[in-house]
Amino acid sequence: MTRLFILLLFTLSLFGAEVENFRWENGVTYSDFLSNNLLPRKHLLDNLDVDDKRLVEEIRAGVHCNILRSRDGTIEQVLIPLNDELQIHIYAFEDTYKFEAIPIIVETKTSAFTLKIKTNPSIDIQNETDSFKLVAIFLTSFGTSIDFTALRKNDDLVMIYEQKYRLGKPFSMPTLKAGMVETNNRPHYIYLNKDGRYYDEKGKQIESFLLARPIQGGRISSRFTKRRFHPVLKKWKAHLGIDYAARRGTPVVAAGSGTLIYVARMGSYGKLIKIRHKDGYETRYAHLKGFRRGMKRGKRVKKGQTIGYVGTTGRSTGPHLHFELRKSGRAINPAKRVQLTTKKLKNKERKSFLKLSKNYNEIINTHLENETKFLKKQVQTSRCYFNNDNANKTPSQKNTNG
Ligand SMILES: [Zn+2]
Repeated sequence: MTRLFILLLFTLSLFGAEVENFRWENGVTYSDFLSNNLLPRKHLLDNLDVDDKRLVEEIRAGVHCNILRSRDGTIEQVLIPLNDELQIHIYAFEDTYKFEAIPIIVETKTSAFTLKIKTNPSIDIQNETDSFKLVAIFLTSFGTSIDFTALRKNDDLVMIYEQKYRLGKPFSMPTLKAGMVETNNRPHYIYLNKDGRYYDEKGKQIESFLLARPIQGGRISSRFTKRRFHPVLKKWKAHLGIDYAARRGTPVVAAGSGTLIYVARMGSYGKLIKIRHKDGYETRYAHLKGFRRGMKRGKRVKKGQTIGYVGTTGRSTGPHLHFELRKSGRAINPAKRVQLTTKKLKNKERKSFLKLSKNYNEIINTHLENETKFLKKQVQTSRCYFNNDNANKTPSQKNTNG
């Protein structure tokens, strides 16, 4: 209750003059931030538990933060977003300051746009929307399912996407909800289903470059969550990976082909392997008992190849694999993207998917029709200038042509 009140207070005061918005600068650590702002390191860093200390390491350069000051300039509250759901909240409390992680309140809006291919999807989307993020989600969502070399000029492209807003500003990556792109006049559709995976118009899952799981068998003992209320500790936490409980020594395989960029111990991760994949993806395998022989930095590994063995090194209560997927440094839910086994929708699931895709098709078609109408209008108005028959009937044209 107090938490909500504090947040509400913050939100309300944001309209006042006391709020300072700033971007987290590159290379600035949380510790730097505290000393730069004369905030007590003891309460806000040294006394934090291991989980909160790990959260602090998740702060990324470029995020929009807010400081609320009282009239005399004293810091009352600070908000630092960690991901699109959780943020650090520092607040003045009885002569000192307190630290907590709290949910981010966001608004979401769904938008759509359509365009005709002029150069290639990346450049055209960038020109149309001025957003490299939309280019990125287009490319990752359609993935390898489309041969973009078959694109022709004037092929249509439609994107329906959802964008989160925090305090009125676009925030975090947009999500592609549905899309259509033509290659040489042939349409290809993609839909984000309720299970969080992408399917084509036939209900066939779009394949991904990563394996479904980095371990044979093994029960999922803890799922990915950007925020979770810990019932015992009574605080908000995040679990930025998936835990697979498995017997000590169970082989761990590379979820995708790539290069080993870390094969060593690392704090609470214990014995850790990091693999860099294409397109800015990275996977992490933690708490390993040991590494497979020959595994060292710089080595290329293939999808499905054994790289290490399940253990309980680092901060771990029993043998398990802690598996993380990161994109451009940011932790994302592996369950959403790490599917290779092509899932076919059946019965009820299929029915519900077809209904969903039909709705999206209606939106896509409306957009395409409007675009066509708009273009026809343009062609009609320009006819008198470019059509020879008409031009010949225009007296002024006749005169100038002599
Ligand atoms: Zn874990």
